[in-house]
Amino acid sequence: MKILLLGAGGFIGANLTERLVKDGKHQITALDIDREKLDDTIKSGGITYIDFDIRGSEEQLEKLTRDHDLIVDLVARANPSLYVSNPVDVFKLNFIENLKIADYCVKHKKRIVQFSTCEVYGITAAKANGQSSADFPQPFIEDETPLIMGPVKNHRWIYACAKQLLERVLHAYGIEQGLNYSIIRPFNFIGPRIDYLPSEQTGNPRVFSHFMNALLYGTPIKLVDGGANYRAYTYIDDAVDCIVRIIENPNGSCDRQIFNIGTPENEVTIKQLAERMIEIFNKRFRQPGDPVPEMIDVSSEEFYGVGYEDCDRRIPNVDKARTLLGWKSEHDLDSVLFLTMKYFVDKHRAKHKEPVAA
Ligand code: UDP
Repeated sequence: MKILLLGAGGFIGANLTERLVKDGKHQITALDIDREKLDDTIKSGGITYIDFDIRGSEEQLEKLTRDHDLIVDLVARANPSLYVSNPVDVFKLNFIENLKIADYCVKHKKRIVQFSTCEVYGITAAKANGQSSADFPQPFIEDETPLIMGPVKNHRWIYACAKQLLERVLHAYGIEQGLNYSIIRPFNFIGPRIDYLPSEQTGNPRVFSHFMNALLYGTPIKLVDGGANYRAYTYIDDAVDCIVRIIENPNGSCDRQIFNIGTPENEVTIKQLAERMIEIFNKRFRQPGDPVPEMIDVSSEEFYGVGYEDCDRRIPNVDKARTLLGWKSEHDLDSVLFLTMKYFVDKHRAKHKEPVAA
């Protein structure tokens, strides 16, 4: 199969591309505006890489769509701090630009694997009813759970809305024009090549990178609004294993299906995440002289600015991936955290020329 990977240079894309190239079963064309995370894969050969910005390259995008059998769309701005600081840009890329890809898939009758987000579920029904989601664990089910967003003034939801609208357009194209799509909703994947540490150049990354920065450099561990909200973490290799199955689509089982990819067993509050990371760091990586970060509470307004509202709890129901694809993730929370921390520690120690912890 000739596969076109759009947005292949991000965290998920780079790991997926590497796996597809290693498998050697398909012909891969990878596109991105940034190839840094793909460098090793490109050097290993067996891939066509094109430096490509989908904004303003319609003709070439249409030609590439026509020339491939399957389009995998990973193009996104997917970082909560951006939803608050650059909401219009987040909407334009995540909806307007992505819609063009969907349109070309309709026109040239190509199957599309569209990356969406678990954020489309929004807040839990418990929170919307003024209850605590800690008392009402409610797994999100792809084709059943209502999608509940906060008010417009909390503009963080523009990302979730853009992605939700894109999902709805793909569904409508399926009904009206026979588009064959599969939609993926990732639930907090982590692993090697995740966001960089925070800096002036790379901005405000996700929580794991912030906490790693604290452990390596002694900056405070900031618990936004007390770190009471929940996330369930999935190791990127497990996620990629499921994504490859969706791409290969055994017996058409993924045709016009939406899939949660996640690990419900790996659920923690953000405060528990910080505590687990400190414990693993101390046991497996700490060296004499390493700084000891303090843990402090900060308000979400202070951390992100006005317009942020948190997803209180996101438990994936993964019955569909298990039933249709025989998939289940293999890594428990401690191994997910250890392997991802090792990636950061190795990079940090290599930069500072110190021995690498085992
Ligand atoms: N968060 C935190 N401290 C940080 C960064 C994030 O407490 O330094 C919280 C954030 O408010 C959210 C959770 O951690 O509740 C996960 O945020 P992340 O940026 O990883 O992305 P999300 O899972 O919301 O997409």
